[in-house]
Amino acid sequence: MSLSDTKLNDLNLCKLGKISDEELFKQPPLEEDCPICFVRLPSLGTGSKYMSCCGKIICSGCIHAPLYDNQGNKVDNKKCAFCRTPTPSSEKEMINRYKKRVEMNDPIAVYSLGYYYSEGKYGFSRDYKKALELWHRAAELGFAKAYNSIGYVYNYGQGVEVDKKKAVHYFELAAMGGDVMARNNLGTWEKREGNMERALKHFMIAIRGGNTKSLNAIKALCLTGNATKDDYTKALRSYQSYLGEIKSDQRDEAAAARENYRYY
Ligand SMILES: [Zn+2]
Ligand SMILES: [Zn+2]
Repeated sequence: MSLSDTKLNDLNLCKLGKISDEELFKQPPLEEDCPICFVRLPSLGTGSKYMSCCGKIICSGCIHAPLYDNQGNKVDNKKCAFCRTPTPSSEKEMINRYKKRVEMNDPIAVYSLGYYYSEGKYGFSRDYKKALELWHRAAELGFAKAYNSIGYVYNYGQGVEVDKKKAVHYFELAAMGGDVMARNNLGTWEKREGNMERALKHFMIAIRGGNTKSLNAIKALCLTGNATKDDYTKALRSYQSYLGEIKSDQRDEAAAARENYRYY
């Protein structure tokens, strides 16, 4: 075992402290607002984009909307809608921007670099250990989604031994930080374990954050008698509240124009 293996294990072990149900089932913070239109960002990945120029997450509506200069003339869309930096002209330029933001400890850039290592993308050779290190760093910098990716690594044994207990633990940390995919994973896990009440609680929280898989899961629980009709009504109402917060005409226009701008 190398030194960095030991370090990584220590880090994991000290983090594997028991999480109380009270902490686990608290409704986590929802997504932040888009910095341009001030409407809450959707949790669906295609509904927003991270900009490697300024580190902002911009909604699909604002990315798609036409840009105007000071004189009110339409300018081309090949610029960041927030800081107006031209979009990178090459892969190399894009990666350099990410690297620069990694140096600034931008959690999303750190996370993305980890993702490129895990996939062996953009000229990075596949390195799960490096990915795991970067995801731990991103998570500690406050990017909860990174814990979900760490959960997957342990769940499927990517470059590590399969460890379901660790996987669940990291899904829990991600879910508590507001990651709805991790929350849905936990619901599915508890359902498989036969803990229907806990599954229902997880699904409910994920739905408030816009996860439609969890909405279908509650419907299925309802059909098998593991949830009531009232539960499903409550779930639908909760999803409506979510939609009320994220819907905008501008985002609808973007979604109508391009499938990869779909936001719910
Ligand atoms: Zn926006
Ligand atoms: Zn920018």
